[in-house]
Amino acid sequence: DAGSTNKSFVGAIDNGTTSSRFLIFDTAGNPVASHQIEFKQIHPYSGWHEHDPNELIATVSECIDKACEEFEGKGHSLSDIKAIGITNQRETTCVWDTRTGEPLHNCIVWTDTRTHRIVHELHQREGADELHDLCGLPLSTYPSSTKLLWLLKHAENVKKVYEEGFLGFGTVDTWLVYKLNGGPEANVHVTDPTNASRTMWMNIHTLKYDDKLISFFGLDVKTPKLHLPKIVPSSDPEAYGKLATTKLKGTKITGCLGDQSAALVGQCGFTPGRAKNTYGTGCFLLYNVGEKPVISKHGLLATVAYDFSSQGIKPVYALEGSIAVAGSSVKFLMNNLGFFRDSHKVSELARTVSDNGGCVFVTGFSGLFAPYWFDDVQGTIWGLTAYTERGHIARATLEATCFQTKAILDAMEKDAGVKLAELAVDGGMSNSDLCMQIQSDVAQIPVDRPRMRETTALGAAIAAGFAVKVWASFDELREINKEDRFVFKPKITQKASDKMYKKWNKAVQMSKGWTT
Ligand code: ADP
Repeated sequence: DAGSTNKSFVGAIDNGTTSSRFLIFDTAGNPVASHQIEFKQIHPYSGWHEHDPNELIATVSECIDKACEEFEGKGHSLSDIKAIGITNQRETTCVWDTRTGEPLHNCIVWTDTRTHRIVHELHQREGADELHDLCGLPLSTYPSSTKLLWLLKHAENVKKVYEEGFLGFGTVDTWLVYKLNGGPEANVHVTDPTNASRTMWMNIHTLKYDDKLISFFGLDVKTPKLHLPKIVPSSDPEAYGKLATTKLKGTKITGCLGDQSAALVGQCGFTPGRAKNTYGTGCFLLYNVGEKPVISKHGLLATVAYDFSSQGIKPVYALEGSIAVAGSSVKFLMNNLGFFRDSHKVSELARTVSDNGGCVFVTGFSGLFAPYWFDDVQGTIWGLTAYTERGHIARATLEATCFQTKAILDAMEKDAGVKLAELAVDGGMSNSDLCMQIQSDVAQIPVDRPRMRETTALGAAIAAGFAVKVWASFDELREINKEDRFVFKPKITQKASDKMYKKWNKAVQMSKGWTT
């Protein structure tokens, strides 16, 4: 290509819970062009949460084209984009007809709790106790498996296509790769271990589908009636195919990581003991535990951090603390209660008061995830009096995510036997200085925030770049995103922090049993 230079860039598709993005990174890890589009959040009933699968593809494609225009506008050449990585909201369940590539239902989003009853039934099934050790996850409304069971039970067309033998399943990574490759003609039907580890069908020790897990859920993958994606490494020069359309038509997809794993990679959490906490729609703390999974005894998940085995690196595991509601609680104050018009205003409102005024907000809109796993909790504000103002509620909202993070850090200390020295953070809600200060106060550890907070996309770019040798080793990434980090240090005493946390725990216990 005449316009090509010897510069290299890597693209990253980031499909989060609320928006699609495409970013183009240079080899120093700086985004040089990007585009972001929010998509519809569909809530047909209380506790239900869906995305339109076609809208996910359309927004991703538009983001690619718009970011490419910006990139070219800056004098760069598209042919210098060597590869594309994908990172995505995890667990969210997509189904389609493999004959046509057409979706059969809206995607059921990871936060959705409609499988509440199915989960209760599954708990009674023989073998339920063995699942956690095999796949690293507790049985809950969260993984893809229970969402697929709901579809097979309640969506007639899904059931019909399953019986006919043509039901395609994928988490969002798989759906994007399949459609961006052109659908059934190319038929690239793959996933990576970080995403597969969220279905409950993958054995966390072998990184392969496990017959025991699949038969527990009563699924036919042998005939097959259900077509599961092939599990391939997170970084791979061939397995993910190439884009069939957009301005980057023909560019290879060579990296794929679930969003939380991608953020750990983007924060360069490559050594055991490194951790990151991402405050997006939900909040997810991942702690690198090395080459063997740690099955938690304290309410955490065992998950795959990344599989760069095609680069000769052994797969790496993480302990994970998942919080269902984080930034979405800020959106709740904005959209449902009309407290402000823009998420970043939450800090301003919370700063109108000096403390929570006795309010504790248990933001259990999807029950409480780690380390509690209470599905009989709903959102509850405790401690309202005639004195309470909107500012107190705003502050209590920010505190809720920080308290849950503290509970996860405590559980992690028990599981891993070490106390975290520092917490690297990112994600939309980490933009709030106040929230990060509260986090440092509540957890009593330094909170370290990078200037460039698109770490999830950067992680996907790193996975993709490794596969095509844009970067050849972790060493080359050492300086990435190290400049201008800000460290929040605790400003209150341990005693004051303990007092706040005690009240949170009381509120959590009192919220239990609301839904039965
Ligand atoms: P996702 O990838 O899950 O879609 P993001 O990392 O983009 O999430 O973060 C979006 C979330 O962060 C939204 O729920 C939004 O309310 C919240 N958020 C964004 N900016 C701020 C801010 N300055 N203060 C508090 N919350 C914020």
